[in-house]
Amino acid sequence: MNNKLYGNLIFELSHAGRRGYSLPKNRFGEHQTVELPAELRRETDAALPECDEMTVVRHYTNHSQNNFGVNNGFYPLGSCTMKYNPVINEEIAAMTEFTTLHPMQPAETCQGALEVYYHVQQTLAQLTGLSEFTLNPCAGAHGELTGLMIIRSYHDSRGDSKRTKVIIPDSAHGTNPASAAVCGLDVIEVKSLSNGTVNVEDLKALIEQHANEIAGMMMTNPNTLGLFERNIPEIAQLIHQCGGLMYYDGANLNPMLGVCRPGDMGFDVMHINLHKTFSTPHGGGGPGSGPVGVRKGLEAFLPTPRVVLDEDEYMLRVETDNKSSLGSVGCFFGNFGVILRAYAYLLSLGKENIKWVGPLATLNANYIKESLKDVYELPIGGVCKHEFVFDGLKDKSTGVTTMDVAKRLLDYGYHAPTIYFPLLFHEAMMIEPTENESKETIDGFIDVLRKIAKEAAEQPDVVKSAPNNTPIRRVDDVLAAKQPVLTWRAMQEI
Ligand SMILES: *Cc1c(COP(=O)(O)O)cnc(C)c1O
Repeated sequence: MNNKLYGNLIFELSHAGRRGYSLPKNRFGEHQTVELPAELRRETDAALPECDEMTVVRHYTNHSQNNFGVNNGFYPLGSCTMKYNPVINEEIAAMTEFTTLHPMQPAETCQGALEVYYHVQQTLAQLTGLSEFTLNPCAGAHGELTGLMIIRSYHDSRGDSKRTKVIIPDSAHGTNPASAAVCGLDVIEVKSLSNGTVNVEDLKALIEQHANEIAGMMMTNPNTLGLFERNIPEIAQLIHQCGGLMYYDGANLNPMLGVCRPGDMGFDVMHINLHKTFSTPHGGGGPGSGPVGVRKGLEAFLPTPRVVLDEDEYMLRVETDNKSSLGSVGCFFGNFGVILRAYAYLLSLGKENIKWVGPLATLNANYIKESLKDVYELPIGGVCKHEFVFDGLKDKSTGVTTMDVAKRLLDYGYHAPTIYFPLLFHEAMMIEPTENESKETIDGFIDVLRKIAKEAAEQPDVVKSAPNNTPIRRVDDVLAAKQPVLTWRAMQEI
């Protein structure tokens, strides 16, 4: 990477008259040249950079290497992690046999694609212990909304129209209360205990207060602190007794895979993020897929279309077949490319290997946590699942913040963890290694975090001024968010 030599902007490398191309001669001769009418022509030439070929190639090649992703280095971003995104899954999703399909072509002409769709529906049901899945929602939050609409439809179908409240823990992902509000439900917040899990006594009081107005409860497990909610059986019983349904936010299902199933814990409705757990990269705004599953007895409320197997033919079930269904929640079938990646992921791991995903994700996270808790503040101890939260450096006297540590990690070639989320701790630093990293990679990360803790104590300015050797130094993140400079003003500069 040599940005000094090759410039940050191609315009800075421009020299008038320099060329990196040659056009073929006019085969029709001078007299055949047709001038464009003057009113269609620009008055001044476009301000295009003029560079030689090697300069252009190096400029863009060097810039392409300024990207950081899972293919260049360790990426311990908690909660919305880039989990396992092998390139072969991208290649499968890009196959023309799939990309040239039209969503309205007759079922008998795309049996292969419908078979993939059907198998993903079935496999998710098996992995989660639920009865049926729809793959139509296009994001986690979209799945939440769909799931909550199913819960509403269920109560409505029984003539129980008073149930307009949904209980959500204070540790929940922000999309949970937002989806409830979009669905027209009122949110009741249940508190967490100091150990990070739901406070069952607080929940009991809320249930007593609102009993027959409760539509259901949304829970995330492992919760946003990476902790297994141990009291789910009791909580599910309390909610069911008062007539509500249990919703499972399964955005980050990897620590559960092969270990336990939401359907067996007493959940009625759930969503999964295929972008996160099942191989589509998360971030950058999409595309995503948030399939929704329901337990036995709620299938009729699912949206359509769904793919069903009739004898040996895959068919579409549409809303006109079923009056209870929500109908359509998105266009056509959702994001089919994401579903293809999930299918490739499921097949490449297979029934045997998928059992290792949860245990290895859990082992890796706990190994990092235990190796660093003497220098980083661990507000909630005990065994975590796939991720955990530090509350900054243990030694608060250095003045070095979580932001500084995150920036210093960039100097050492690591992506930063998720910082200042969840909001429960001031200096939150949320680390998720995922199930795919080797012990050497994880040890390297641990060493660097220890080194940064030492620097914070001995030469804090090095950490506070970081990053020191990245192409862009520390930016003013407020200014960058409020007044982003997204274009280069060509006319002023040339
Ligand atoms: C990511 C996430 C969501 C929302 O998923 P989107 O696809 O971003 O809408 C919901 N809940 C949890 C716990 C998540 O981590």
